Formats: sequence, structure tokens, C-alpha cells
Amino acid sequence: MQFNSRAIALLVAICVAIITTAFLYLVPNITTTSIVIAFLLSFSSSYILVRLVLEFLFFRQIETIYDSLKKIKDSELVLRGKLSSVNPLKRINREISSFARSKEKEIEELKERENFRREFIADVSHELKTPIFSAQGFVHTLLDGAINDKEVRKKFLKKAAKSLDALDLLVQDILTISQIESGEIKMHFENFDMRAMCTEILEQLEDKAEKAGIDLKMSKKYKEPIIVRGDYRRIYQVMINLISNAIKYTRAGGQAKISFKELKENKIRISVSDNGRGIPESDISRIFERFYRVDKSRSREKGGTGLGLSIVKHIIESHESEIMVKSEYKVGSEFYFDLNKASYIDKVEEGWEEDYA
Ligand code: ADP
Repeated sequence: MQFNSRAIALLVAICVAIITTAFLYLVPNITTTSIVIAFLLSFSSSYILVRLVLEFLFFRQIETIYDSLKKIKDSELVLRGKLSSVNPLKRINREISSFARSKEKEIEELKERENFRREFIADVSHELKTPIFSAQGFVHTLLDGAINDKEVRKKFLKKAAKSLDALDLLVQDILTISQIESGEIKMHFENFDMRAMCTEILEQLEDKAEKAGIDLKMSKKYKEPIIVRGDYRRIYQVMINLISNAIKYTRAGGQAKISFKELKENKIRISVSDNGRGIPESDISRIFERFYRVDKSRSREKGGTGLGLSIVKHIIESHESEIMVKSEYKVGSEFYFDLNKASYIDKVEEGWEEDYA
């Protein structure tokens, strides 16, 4: 049933008119014309009165509240139809409830973000403490007298420098991750040769691998360029992180390898595998978390910040892909992700037609 000022006024007016007429019947010698006139008069006056009271004192006020609500509500909560077409009290109740629900959701999100920020700050301060305290310790020991011994001086200065280098790496990684998480870093997609990128990275990490006694190589299966679509700099960063980890967490005499696999739907799978220490099953699901390390002291000793894999995860997800891992403790690990291959048209536009002719 429609519940508006007109319906209410009509109902009340009929009731008043009936009651008035009923009373008039009690008056002796009253004519039918007088009763009809009394009925019409009481009906119309009650109708006008009730309607005016409802419209101006009640519904107009509700409509004003409703309009203000409409202005402050989120755009997703669209208010449809006119107020007068439905029960205004029910409607305003419904609107206030949905408004409250949306605000509640917003508050939840803000709380979550606040928790995340608080945790992040706590983690960062904790992580910064280690290299700062260590550098501070070496410098103070030198100032307290060790500076006079040539041998000790050099050793301590080297250690202080190593701690400061670790601090520099950590700050860089923290900046990267907070920029990625706050959406400040935008991906710049372009077509590039993944194989050429990996060759460059192998050259860059050759020394590091040699020093660690690791045989670092790339699968020879693909001789042709592998043109993919992605952010060159960011994918470079991903590969450096994955290959550096493969070197860091593999004993001397071990192997680290980059390989590619053609997939359906124009995708290519890029993997970095090693036969190193592997990751215990209970830790696998956590290694992509910020600052999570399986072995904290070993990671620090190897210059790890604990942020590498979370940066990798963010970058790969920005490419609408997923970083995956297979690992067996004390056997080895394989990290892999898929990228879209650039279409033939893109290759031609970028001057690759010779390679694909
Ligand atoms: P870190 O700077 O400590 O290397 P990452 O985020 O890159 O931080 O990696 C997180 C943890 O995952 C590492 O501390 C290590 O315990 C584990 N991990 C990563 N890559 C490998 C790997 N190839 N082999 C074994 N463990 C690995």
C-alpha cells in the first residue's frame, strides 16, 4: 500500500466525516441535505488540514533530511525515484542504514590501513636498528682507542662500511616497496627481449657467482630473442633479486639456472632454479611477506634485506601474473612467473621483423 500524505489525509478525512455525520444523526429533525453538507465540509476541511500538516511539517522536513543525505552519500549508493512514491519513513530508514553500512566499511578499511602502517613502521624501525647499531659500535670502538692500532682500524672501518652499505640497500628496498604499495610507482610497459635481458644480468652477476663458487647459466634451448611485454626496469629488478637469492642460498659447487618455457595463450614462463638449501615447507607460504627470512642471521650475513621477494611479488602482480615457487628443503628451489609475449605486430613495429621473418 502506498503510504504518502495524500493517502493519510484521505483516510483521516473519511474517518472524521463519518464520525461527524454519525453524531449529526443523533440531532432530532435534521435534514439529509444538512448531513451531506456537514459530511462534505468535515471531509474537505480535515483533508486539507491533515494534508497541510503532513506536507509542511512532516514530509518536507524528511525530504530535507533525505536531500542532505543524498548529497553526502557515496556515488555508488544511487538514490532512485521520488520520495513521495514510497513510504518516506521506510525509505529514509533504508537510506540511513545503507549509508551507515558504507561508512562502517570505510572505517574498517581505514583501520586496516592504519594497522598496516603501524606494523610497517615497527618492522622498518626494527630492521634499521641492526645495521645502525653495528656501524655505531665499530665507530665508537675506534674512537675509544682502537683507531691507534693500524690493523684493527682497517678491520673495523671495513665492518662499519659493510653495515652502512647494508643500511643503504635496506633504505633503497624500503623506499621501493613503500612506493609500490602506495601506487606511486607506475609500470611502463614496453616490448623487450627477455633473453637479452637475462644475458646482461648473467654478465652482471658473473663475478658474484664465481666468488660464491656457483655455476650460473641460462638454458640454451632458446636461440631466438624472446619478446615479452612488461616494464623492463622492474622485470630486471625481479630477475636480479631471484638470481641473487639463488646464488646466496646455494652452497659452493652448486648450480643456478635461468630457463624459459613456451606456454599456451601467447605466454612464456621464466624460471630461476638452484640446487641450494631449499625452503622448509612450513616457510614457503611466508617467504613473500615483508622482512620474512627463513634464517635471519644467514640472510643478513649475505646482505639480504628480507624485502627482495615482496618486491618481486608486487612487480609480478602488477604484470597481472603471479610469482610461484617450488622448493624442497636441502634439495633446491625454483621460482617462476609468466609474462605475455609481445604480438607479432608489436615486434614488426619495433623492428623485430628480421628475427621473426
Ligand atoms: P633476503 O634479503 O633475506 O634474501 P628475500 O625476500 O629475497 O629476502 O627472501 C626471503 C627469504 O626466502 C630469504 O631470507 C630466504 O630464507 C628464502 N629464500 C629466498 N630465495 C631462496 C632460494 N633460492 N633458496 C632458498 N631460500 C630462499
